[in-house]
Order: sequence, then structure tokens, then C-alpha cells
Amino acid sequence: MNDIAAPPKSSVIKSNAPTLDHIDVTALKGVGKQFAEKLAKIGLHTLQDIIFHLPLRYIDRTRVSSIGSLGPNLNIVIEGEIKACDVVFGKRRSLMCRIQDGTGTLSLRFFHFSSAQKQNLQPGTRLRCFGETRRGASGLEIYHPEYEQLKDNSAQQTAASDKALKERLALNQTLTPVYPATEGLTQQRMRGLAEQALAMMDNTSLQELLPPELRPGRGQSSLAESLRYLHAPPQNAPIDQLLEGEHPHQQRLVFEELLAHHLSLLRVRQRTQAQGAFSMPTHRKLRDQFLKNLAFTLTEAQDRVSREIAADMAKPIPMLRLVQGDVGSGKTVVAALAALQAIANGKQAVIMAPTEILAEQHRLNFVRWFEPLGIDVAWLTGRLKGQAREVQTRAISSGEARLIVGTHALFQQGVEFADLGLTVIDEQHRFGVHQRLSLREKGVNKGLALHPHQLTMTATPIPRTLAMSAYADLDSSVIDELPPGRTPVATAVIASDRREQVIARVKVACEAGRQAYWVCTLIEESETLEAQAAEVTAEELHIALPGTRVGLIHGRLKPKAKAAIMDEFKQHKLDLLVATTVIEVGVDVPNASLMIIENPERLGLAQLHQLRGRVGRGVEASHCVLLYGAPLSQSGRERLNAMRETTDGFKIAEIDLKLRGPGEVLGTRQTGDMQFKIAELCRDAHLLPHILPCAQLLLEEHSDLTEKLIRRWLGFNDNYANV
Ligand code: ADP
Ligand code: MG
Repeated sequence: MNDIAAPPKSSVIKSNAPTLDHIDVTALKGVGKQFAEKLAKIGLHTLQDIIFHLPLRYIDRTRVSSIGSLGPNLNIVIEGEIKACDVVFGKRRSLMCRIQDGTGTLSLRFFHFSSAQKQNLQPGTRLRCFGETRRGASGLEIYHPEYEQLKDNSAQQTAASDKALKERLALNQTLTPVYPATEGLTQQRMRGLAEQALAMMDNTSLQELLPPELRPGRGQSSLAESLRYLHAPPQNAPIDQLLEGEHPHQQRLVFEELLAHHLSLLRVRQRTQAQGAFSMPTHRKLRDQFLKNLAFTLTEAQDRVSREIAADMAKPIPMLRLVQGDVGSGKTVVAALAALQAIANGKQAVIMAPTEILAEQHRLNFVRWFEPLGIDVAWLTGRLKGQAREVQTRAISSGEARLIVGTHALFQQGVEFADLGLTVIDEQHRFGVHQRLSLREKGVNKGLALHPHQLTMTATPIPRTLAMSAYADLDSSVIDELPPGRTPVATAVIASDRREQVIARVKVACEAGRQAYWVCTLIEESETLEAQAAEVTAEELHIALPGTRVGLIHGRLKPKAKAAIMDEFKQHKLDLLVATTVIEVGVDVPNASLMIIENPERLGLAQLHQLRGRVGRGVEASHCVLLYGAPLSQSGRERLNAMRETTDGFKIAEIDLKLRGPGEVLGTRQTGDMQFKIAELCRDAHLLPHILPCAQLLLEEHSDLTEKLIRRWLGFNDNYANV
């Protein structure tokens, strides 16, 4: 790190010794250049990094257990005498040692062993072993225990070697930390590094970054004390509380970490808004004309959200707004109005969708809405190749194209915008936090230091506390109302042994002129396997339902073929569409009023809710059948019941949060790249309300500390723009 900041005036550093964040890992014994590189790969550059690389759990090596009292899956220490030691031949050759104390016996098993090792484990030898018990072929076993000899077999023994032996054999005085596993870095090595770093830490070398007034109830012990405790908890520490992450020493660190994450997002927001944007006031006449041409009037919620957006865009700072609206709440037209405002101000607007199917659908809508106003719609996705692609990219870079619809390939393939005023990212939960932020960076107008306004839209309702932390960089608007005339989808939960009846129901619906989806799901996320399953089902339904026009769509089809099938379904040239979860996002065919989801127990609630949102879009009463495979797990049953009982996306999100945790609710990708060292959003959500005001205060009054906090907890990973 070369931009080393001077210590802030407020801190009380008595000596001139460098703080731990300024001491390289090579200062530790046994860490050379090569090893330091390995550590750098997992983000460990300085002694501070080592100290904040916290244990995931602990094992108790402070006392010896009696063998007779043990069960499987315990991390323990035992002592006993070897009774037998033999090489056994089973599926794999191994060395087996029976070891016995006064209370019982168990086996030590080595798959890798040397002849010297075998020699040292002869009957009569007394050992102390560390390891995890498991149920093995011979009863209770420990694979590859760490072990020490208690009584040396060799006759000659010097006083010195005797003393060394005693020292080695001392039981640990503290609980033993287990660090996050990393290739090429053993637990023992990591423990050694932490021990050394801790020995170099005192209250001046580790800076307390939170001002005292922001440490309510957390000021009783110093930060150094907390860290020392967590790397080496005393023998009588409440190990269960530690494993739950709820120990006060952990919670104070959790608080600091959540705060650091929050600050990093707020800082991104600050930086973006410092750039300025083109002020684009509403063009009343065009807006009125657009609304007059629409086949419907906006709902109150659409109108309100659209005005919030309009007000943002009129300002000379970049809009950073998230629109949440349940499936079918009509987000597209809200995006269109924003685009219109940009175009009316002579700027370009771009709408990005996560899939080709959805981009294609937007294109059709936008052509219908914008061509009457004399605005052409340009179109760019990954599948557009050659000449046609060149025509589009040229129109985009010359500025001739005002409205551009496409997939995120748009930003990934070096397309240059002439004068981008607005970026809309639809179904943004499909993108990770980093990807979202990097898309924003790439949309910056070259040369002009002005950011485009940004609108992100999501149909995944996000519980408030989570939204606060994952979207701290965005303002948010909620479309909390569905267009009139919708009847909620009635959902039935039916076991797969009644499949025949369900097929009959599809027949009735299709014969009555309605359309249906049949969705196939798989446990594994393999497009190929999923496609095969859908093919088999499509064939089966084709045979079972003569006279019904059955189509098939899955992720393995070429984009062109996918678009063609969707088009046929939209035009009612197909009655039944057998699909994989590729139709989850955005697809809008109002005449489809029946959806069968096979093995819904394999999907999360958010995904089921998205899928079900494909029906219930017209005036017909719609139905969803969850055709599950028995037996259901407890959580499977809870999820399906939740689906039956409510169609409210926010309620479903709250239930999902309880059942599965924030990782799944936000989409694995979104939290997958929000890596916490010690915090867990779900467990620690209660801290979030305190974090918001703290973050604000820090940014306003202690910006020097902000940088240090971010650096401490996020390392160099906070540079989202370069991900
Ligand atoms: P989503 O929020 O899921 O993206 P869409 O924008 O696809 O929803 O809208 C769903 C359907 O509702 C579309 O067919 C759209 O034309 C229709 N729609 C949107 N707003 C209204 C409204 N105010 N009144 C009636 N229908 C509407
Ligand atoms: Mg949509």
C-alpha cells in the first residue's frame, strides 16, 4: 500500500512505532517473499490483516476426554496405550492403531504413513491424540490424528529431550481456533502467524477506529482485548455462544464490520454524486402524449414512483434509485417514462435486461410505445452478429440511436455511447453488487465528467433491513399496488401421484382457449440436464394431450430459437409451453392463466414467486399448481404452504429470509460477493438500524477514519468498479 495516510490527530499514539496496518506480513518469523505472496492472494498483506482474519470456530484441546464417553463428530484430545498396530487392506490400504484408556478403545487410521511412523506406533506406546471422531468400519475412529508420544520408547533419554517433550505435551491453556480453510495454508501455520501478530499487538499498534461516542456499550474492553480473546478464548469461554457468533467480543467486531461495508457503499454513492449529471427536466408535452397513447392509465403507485424518478433526473447530480415492485406491478412503463425524459432532453437512454427473452420483450413494448412518437429503438444483445451488429453499434456511438434496449452484453463488449443520460437495469437482483456498480462506471460518458442517471428495478422485494445494507448506495421507491382487475393467483399444492389429474386440468384450460406453462425444475444447476428433463416432459405431454399445441423452451436453445418460441406462445400459436426456469424473469403473456411447477420443493421461495408471477396477468382467474415429489422436508413444506397462503411478494420475502437467510433472499450472487469476515446479515440484522446514523456521522465528521475502517474490513476489495 503506497498511499499510507498519516495518523489522524484525534488518535492517541504515544510512540512513533508503525501501527499494525503498516507492518508487512514479512515482519513475521518464517514468512518470506514467496509465502507472503500466498497470503496476499487471500487478502492478507499486513499484520492487521492477519489479526482480522478471525477464527470460524473453536476446538477444545484444554482437557483430555475419556474414550468411553465419546461419540462421533467430536473434536477431542485422548490419551491411551496402543494395543495393536497393523496395515489393513480394504478399499484403501491403511495403518490401523487400536488405542485404549481405562474406559474404552478406538482406532486411529492413517491412509498415508511412513515405515518410521509405523515403527513408532508399536503396542505398548502411550499417546496423546488430537482429532475428530467419526464412525468408521471398526467403530469409533480418528483419521490422521495429530499425536504425541507420552513415554519415549527409546532407552537413552537426555534431560534436555525430556524437557522438550514435556513442553510439547502441555495441554492448551486456551481454546484452539479454526481459521477459514485456505489451500496451502495449514491451520497450524495460520495459528502460528496469528500468535506472532497478537504478540506484537498492543493498544497503540492497533488503532481504535470508532470514536468513543459511537461505541455504545461496546467500550468496556479495548479492541485489542476483544481480538486477543477471539483468537485464543480462555478455557472456560462459553463455546456455544462463540460458535453462534453472539459473544460480546464478536458482536463489537460485527458492528464494526457492518459499518465498514455500509460506509463503502455510501462512499461509492458520494463519489458518483460528486461527478454531477446532466439535468433533465420533464418534458410535459411528450409525457402527456405518451400517456395518452397507452392502453391503460397508470396506477397511483406507478404515478408516484414515476414522479420521484422525474424529480431525480431534473437534478444535476446522478440519480441512484432502486424501484421495487412485485411481479406484474408494471415497472416497464415506469422505466419507459424515465427513458422518454432523457430522450426529450436530447440524451440517450439504455435499458438492460438480464436475459435475451426479456430484452426481446422490452424491445417489442418499446417499439410499440416509442415509434408513434417518432423515436426509433436500437437493439443490441450478444446474439446480434456481423453487419447487423455494426449498424447498431455505429448508431449508438454516433448518437443517432436515442433509445437502446439490450442485455448486459451491451456494456461488456466495448460499446461506446455518444451521450448517455440514463441507464436502466431491469431485474437487477440477477446482477451482483459489484457487477451493478461496475456497470454504472462503464456507462460514464467519456470525456464529459458527467454520470448518467441510474435506475435499477427489481421484482424481488427486499426486507427493509437487508435493503438498507445491500443497497445503501441507492434511494428506493416501491410500487406497492397492482394494476386493477387482477385476481390473485390461486395456488394448489398437489403430490406428484396425482399428475394425471393435473394433466387433465391443463387439457380443460387449453380447450377453453387459455394458455398454460409447465415448468420443469432440477436440483442441480445444469442447463443441459434441465433441458433434457424438459424435453422428456414435453414429449410426454405431447402424447398425453393430442390436439394441444405444445412448445418447448429451455436455456440450451439458440437465442433466435428461444425468441421464436416465445413469439409463437405470445401469439397463441401454442397452447402449452413446457419450460425450464428460463421463463422466470419478466415474461409477460396475459392470456396464460395456468402454471404447473414440477418439483417446486427444489426451488427457493423468491424463485417460486417469480415463476408464479408469469400468470395472473390478465383478467381471467389464474391458477398455479405446485406438483411436488413426496416426501417433503420440513422446510419444503413450509415454503409450499407459504406459496399457497400468500401472493404478497414482501410477505414471501420475509418468510424466505427466516427460512433461508439473506444469502438466498438477495440472490447468492449478490451476497456471494459481499464477503463478511465475521458478520452474518440475518443473525446480525438487529444491529443495522444503529449502523445507519453511525455511518452518517463518521462520513460527516471523521472521514479519515472512514477510509481506515473500509481498508481494515474490506481490504482492497472495495474497488467495485474494477471487478
Ligand atoms: P413488471 O413489474 O413485472 O415488470 P410489467 O411492466 O411487465 O410488470 O407489466 C405487467 C403487465 O401489466 C403488462 O402487460 C403491462 O402492460 C400491464 N400494465 C402495466 N401497468 C398497467 C396499468 N396501470 N394498468 C393496466 N395494466 C398495466
Ligand atoms: Mg419486468
